[in-house]
This record gives sequence, C-alpha cells and structure tokens, in this order.
Amino acid sequence: MNFDRDFTAWPIGLHRVADGVYAYVQGNGPYGNAGFSNAGFVVGPDYVVVIDTLGTNSMHDDFIRAIRGVTDLPVGLVIITHHHVDHVLGTHRFMPARVICHRQCRAHIQAGRDSMVQRWRDMRPLLAPDLADIPVVVPDITFDDRISIHLGERELVVFHPGLAHTDGDAAVYLPKDGILFTGDLFFNRVCPAAFQGSVSGWIAAVESLLELAPAVIVPGHGPVADRHALREMLRYLRLIQAGSEQAYALGLTPEQAQERMELGELRDWFDTDHRLLQDIQRVYEALKTSMLASVAE
Ligand SMILES: [Zn+2]
Repeated sequence: MNFDRDFTAWPIGLHRVADGVYAYVQGNGPYGNAGFSNAGFVVGPDYVVVIDTLGTNSMHDDFIRAIRGVTDLPVGLVIITHHHVDHVLGTHRFMPARVICHRQCRAHIQAGRDSMVQRWRDMRPLLAPDLADIPVVVPDITFDDRISIHLGERELVVFHPGLAHTDGDAAVYLPKDGILFTGDLFFNRVCPAAFQGSVSGWIAAVESLLELAPAVIVPGHGPVADRHALREMLRYLRLIQAGSEQAYALGLTPEQAQERMELGELRDWFDTDHRLLQDIQRVYEALKTSMLASVAE
C-alpha cells in the first residue's frame, strides 16, 4: 500500500449479498473517492465470475485475497462494466479467464491499451507507485444489447442500457436473487461523473434499472445499497439536467449555473466539488449539439 486510504466513510471490504454472491467495496483515497471503485464476484459450481477488476496493484492483491477467502475455484470469466482504469486494470491477474464487455467498452480499452496506465499515473501521482507493471487486457467477448451467463442454477444477465456514464456501460442482473451490479451507472453517496457520457441518457438508464425492482444494488462507487439510494442519484441527475437547461436558456455560464443549482443535502456527497461543474458542462455540450443539429435541419 503506497498511499493513504480513508476507510471511514462506509463499511468496506467483502459483503455477502446472497449465497455465493459477493460485493467488494472500497473506501476513499488521496483523491476523494476517485479511483476507488467496487467490484464483485459470483461463485458457480465449477468456476467464479468476477465483475470488474479494480485499479491499482494493492487493490488487486486485496480483492484476490478476498476471493480466495471464500473459494478455491478458478476465475473462469471476467465481466467488465466499462473501460475506466479503476474498473479494468486488474484483469491480467485473472488470465486465462475469458473477458466480456460491451462492444464500445472493448473499443476504448483497445484504443487506450498502451497509454491508459501512464495517463492515470500522470493524473494521479500519489497512486503512481501502486501502478507498476500492469499489462492491459483487451476483452475477447463483446455484446451489443445483452448476453446471459448461465452459472449453475443462476442466470447473470449482462446488458447495456444505452449512453449513460459512458457509451459502453454494462450492468449485471441476477433475476432470481434480485441483485444488480451497476458498475458506474450508480454512484452511491458519491457525485456521479458524466464527463464521458450523457446526463439525459443516464436518467433514462437509471429509470430502466429501477424498473427491474432490484432488492440489492452494488454500485460502482460507494456502499451497497437499495433502490432508495439509486432514486437519490436519479434525483441528482434530474436536478442537474433541469437546472442546466434553465440556466442555458437564460444565457448563463456553467459556473453561474453551478452557483444557482439547489442540491440540498446531495451537495454533501463525496467529489461533488469538481464533478458538479463537469456534469453541468456535459449538459451544456449536449444542448449546444442539439441546437446546432436543429439549425442544420
Ligand atoms: Zn467510470
């Protein structure tokens, strides 16, 4: 461990959410919650399915130790929820497992395979000592809308709910158990980051996740949750979308929109300081693009 971690925000480590189904939750680090994502795994009769593989070397070590505390079965399959470094860099530790992700997620990993680790070292120097010798694995199986894994008696439905956090997001739903792994489609008590996605698309995606009525939700960041917490993030996204549209119509800058944004207690989430403005800017970009498109028609 080469950097300070804050383990006080919520219960971290391994959480058994059903028989053979585990969430692996991280706390915060030197950059708030940024880079400190969650993962999970499901134990089948013959092999383990891992959902996301985390960011730095010591995170990979801790996660693998947690898996080995539960089962000796090999990891046969890795599901990657999207291409961001903090969700994918541990994949090489599970080779020769098969690796599944959305087609666009694979395209991003392939395009960034030679540069993504160095870019993260440059962006987050305090994490850099923990980012040595990480070969990036490009997933070998992709899907467009959905794919099902049949693991013993259990079905894992891996699906893409449209452009949201990124254009290659995947969620994993276990219908029998009512358990949903969302990747970064859900930030719990952490401000969601829309810098590579779409706030309006994300609203639609969360609405479709809620229609599944999951009992337990494992977010990409923050503690294990229920539907109420996911509705709270939906409330944030709707406030940002409506508030930004209003400010844009008034000719205000994104900074002025940020000042006017009435988020109440949602402002107390981790990482809101820098992400709120980014999220507003993302709505502005989308509004400008749609204005230009309507002028061109
Ligand atoms: Zn992400």
